[in-house]
Amino acid sequence: MIVILKNNPDQEQLNNLINWLKTMGMEVNISKGTTQTVVGLVGDTSKIDMDLIAALDIVEDVKRVQEPYKKANRKFHPEDTVIKVGDTQIGGGNLTIIAGPCSVESEEQVCTIAKLVKDAGATMLRGGAFKPRTSPYSFQGLGEEGLNLLREAREQTGLPIVTEIMKAEDIDLFDDIDVLQVGARNMQNFDLLKVLGSTDKPILLKRGMMATYQELLMSAEYIMSEGDPNVILCERGIRTFETQTRNTLDVSAVPVLRKLSHLPIILDPSHSGGKRDLVAPLSMASVAAGADGLEIEVHNHPEKALSDGPQAMLPDAFATLVENLHTLHEAMGKMKPIN
Ligand code: PEP
Ligand code: MN
Repeated sequence: MIVILKNNPDQEQLNNLINWLKTMGMEVNISKGTTQTVVGLVGDTSKIDMDLIAALDIVEDVKRVQEPYKKANRKFHPEDTVIKVGDTQIGGGNLTIIAGPCSVESEEQVCTIAKLVKDAGATMLRGGAFKPRTSPYSFQGLGEEGLNLLREAREQTGLPIVTEIMKAEDIDLFDDIDVLQVGARNMQNFDLLKVLGSTDKPILLKRGMMATYQELLMSAEYIMSEGDPNVILCERGIRTFETQTRNTLDVSAVPVLRKLSHLPIILDPSHSGGKRDLVAPLSMASVAAGADGLEIEVHNHPEKALSDGPQAMLPDAFATLVENLHTLHEAMGKMKPIN
C-alpha cells in the first residue's frame, strides 16, 4: 500500500500517521521527492482501513500496490534512485561505463587494462576473481589473489572496482570492494541475496538468462528487504532460439524496468552478443533505449584471455565507442519526449 501525501504536510500529523502505522505492524518507507512524498507500507495491510487514511488532512491518495515487489517498485519511490560509488554516481542522468577484463589474470594484465580503460573514459573497472564457469575444467578465477590485484589496479587508477561474489560465505573478503556483482547464474541464490542485503554496498544484480522482469525485481526485493537500497539492475541477454549470438540482448528491459522500478538500469552488451563486433552496436542501442550505463569487457590480448576472449573489445575500439556513446547520450538529452 502507498499513501501519497499532499504538498508540505503538517509534520506532527505525519509523525502521528507513521507511528500509528508502525503500531499496526507495518514497515514504513518514506520517499521524499521534489514534487511528492510517498509513504510506502510493507507488511500485512489487510487490517489497515484505507478510507480512514484517505480522510486525513495531509493525505492526497491511498493505493494498494498489487505487484509483489514493493521497495523496488516505482510506486513506492517515484523518483529515480541514484547510487553513489566513490566520486561517481550511477543513475540520475549519468552515463556509467564499467569496463575491464572478464577475468583478472595477473597484476600486469589487470593494471594495464585498467589504465587503458580509464584513459578511454571508463568510470569503473570490472574484473572477475571468482568465476562462474559452465565447465569445471575452465579457468575458475584467481579468487582472493584476484581481489588483491583489483585493489592494486584501483590504487593505480582511482577507478572503483566491480567484481562478482559467488557465495554468501565469502562476504568478508569483499569488505572494501566498491560494487558487488551477482552473476546471472546466481540471480536466484536467495541466501546470497539476503546476505548482500544486510550490507550497505552497491549491488550489481544481473538478470538470469531465463528470468522475467518480475523475477529480476523480486531478486532486487530480496536485497532491499534486508535493508540495502543500493541495487543496480543489469540486463545481460536472455536465452532465445537464436544461435548466432551468445544470448539475445533484451533492449525492452530498459523502458519496461524504467516504468516498473526506480532502480538504475545498466546493460551488458558483451555477454549478450558474445562477439567483439557486436559490442559497439549493442552498446549504442542500449544508450539509445535510455540505459544508465554499460558493462563492457575489454582485453589488450583477447587471443590469450583465460575467459571470454572472443567478446572482449580491443582498447582502441573501446575508446572510440566511449566517445560515440557520449555523443549519443548528449543527443538523447535533446530528444523530444514521445508519449
Ligand atoms: C561476467 O560478468 O563476467 C559474467 C559471468 O556475467 P553473467 O553472470 O552475466 O554471465
Ligand atoms: Mn565474461
